[in-house]
Amino acid sequence: MKVEIDSSSGFCYGVIRAVDTAEKNLNPAMGGKNQLYSLGAIVHNGSELTRLERKGLEVIDLERMKSLRNTRVLIRAHGEPPATYALATENNITLIDCTCPVVLALQKKIASTDGQIVIFGKNGHAEVNGLVGRAEGRAVVIENREDVERISEGKDDRKIDFGKPITIFSQTTKDPVEFEHVCGAIKDKMLSDNLLTIHNTICRQVANRHNDLRIFAKEHSVIIFVSGHDSSNGHVLFELCKEVNNRSYHIQSLEQIDKKWFKKSDIVGICGATSTPKWQLESVRKFLKITLNNYICSKLNRLIYGNYSRF
Ligand code: SF4
Repeated sequence: MKVEIDSSSGFCYGVIRAVDTAEKNLNPAMGGKNQLYSLGAIVHNGSELTRLERKGLEVIDLERMKSLRNTRVLIRAHGEPPATYALATENNITLIDCTCPVVLALQKKIASTDGQIVIFGKNGHAEVNGLVGRAEGRAVVIENREDVERISEGKDDRKIDFGKPITIFSQTTKDPVEFEHVCGAIKDKMLSDNLLTIHNTICRQVANRHNDLRIFAKEHSVIIFVSGHDSSNGHVLFELCKEVNNRSYHIQSLEQIDKKWFKKSDIVGICGATSTPKWQLESVRKFLKITLNNYICSKLNRLIYGNYSRF
């Protein structure tokens, strides 16, 4: 059985930057301390989080941050709304701001946009909360085309005036094809196409990966997709693999791999989300190469031995 790792899988630039910064700030030899708070999971990957927690990273939520004083809190790549920065000033908290520059630019663009704002993204996602915060109450979050239908029929609490100008942005990790569909659905409801301004703010690193991953999934007989189940980008990319290869499996850890998924002749492809560390992809590769190959060989041997024993 041949096993290959997708060369473009692994952390994106923003996540690498946040994890590196956390490690430096947790390393006394580099002027850091053995303890650091992170507002929300720095990366949507349980194994990587455990590794960082062992070094002294503690993930907290906003409620916990409210009770802290005179300490350091890391802001992850997703960014935060202005209220979080105000809270830090109030509680004398030093922020180690790892907001990805791409997200930062998007936040600024939203803050300087007038009129109605639509954000194509996942409700409640940290990046989306940060973006909504910049719009100061003018943003409506749309998850899919069905949302557009419901809002236009008045069946939703969210309100959009399709007769007035709308500017649409996207969460950085969304599917470019879905974004086009949502823009199309909004256009259909508007009195004039000129009233809609589209800003495709999907991260280039993510957008490029969609095409590359489609090709990778097609070229392999089995796909093992590794990511945390709470990774929004992971869900999008896994669905994309599944669309082109129905032998695609989503796992979080090695224990979830089922030996029955594989045949000796398979060429297995391993890939992951922007929050999946390279070391985890490598550990899956080693597991498949050693443990599974041994298992398949011993199964074959038993079969052959069983056949001989009949004679
Ligand atoms: S996906 Fe792109 S925008 Fe989002 S954190 Fe990674 S590099 Fe930044």
